[in-house]
Amino acid sequence: METDSCNVDVTSGSKDPDLVSRSARPEGTLVKVNGVEVGGEAIVVMAGPCAVESEEQLAETARLVSSAGATLLRGGAFKPRTSPYSFQGLGVEGLEMLARAREATGLAVVSEVMDTRQVETVARYADMLQIGSRNMQNFPLLKEAGNSSMPILLKRGMMATIDEYLHAAEYVLSHGNPNIILCERGIRTFETSTRYTLDLNAIPILKERTHLPVIVDPSHGTGLRDLVPTMAKASIAAGADGLLMEVHHHPEEALCDGSQSLFPEQFATLMTDLEKIAAAVGRSIHKL
Ligand code: PEP
Ligand code: MN
Repeated sequence: METDSCNVDVTSGSKDPDLVSRSARPEGTLVKVNGVEVGGEAIVVMAGPCAVESEEQLAETARLVSSAGATLLRGGAFKPRTSPYSFQGLGVEGLEMLARAREATGLAVVSEVMDTRQVETVARYADMLQIGSRNMQNFPLLKEAGNSSMPILLKRGMMATIDEYLHAAEYVLSHGNPNIILCERGIRTFETSTRYTLDLNAIPILKERTHLPVIVDPSHGTGLRDLVPTMAKASIAAGADGLLMEVHHHPEEALCDGSQSLFPEQFATLMTDLEKIAAAVGRSIHKL
């Protein structure tokens, strides 16, 4: 148990918390999401729209990412938006659409929870719960995720150090849930050319310090669709176990994050290119 009340000693070089530390499981953790293993030899690609917007949008995007070779479908039904006047997501109706898309394509589903009260609801429809960047230190939510047996996709806080990130994962682990996938999604820096600065350093650092699988979200990490394929390839070269990417059947019409959403053709080309990068680092792309 840490002794100080608000700020534990998370200066770099301090010992990582017990359960998350690589030394707790030197062989690494495999997280199973509806039968798909993340953290093994095969790289897992998760793709789909930022937000579930309509039956047609989700069904069509799911069909396209599935035929290009994705294994998981992403899509937010509860959206954390900067402005209260922006589209907030379809809620349970959106979750029902995700469940139907899984039925139609066989893709497992990941969707965000922002609040402890959403955990049970989203768990009824999705195969993995996403805790977003803005909630990485929502401690009641981390505890609730820890009480669940669902796989948890824990994104890095946009202003969190790696120490803080590992402590957030420790919350979930220490409440009993070992099924956590980490996701680097870009951090805030002084740079304004991109939405965030994708911290590629975090990949080898996290792989060294924790046994948990590490994936990368180059969509939020750049904010610009034309940078996404390059940074996705760089992430795999740097040792990531998977990718989370936004794809929309008509990105120019998206209600959320259209400018960073790949066109379906871009995604299909990227999937082919990723095979080569994966092979170069002794890995493969997971196929359903
Ligand atoms: C998302 O994945 O759509 C999202 C809101 O991501 P983040 O929490 O990383 O901003
Ligand atoms: Mn988004």
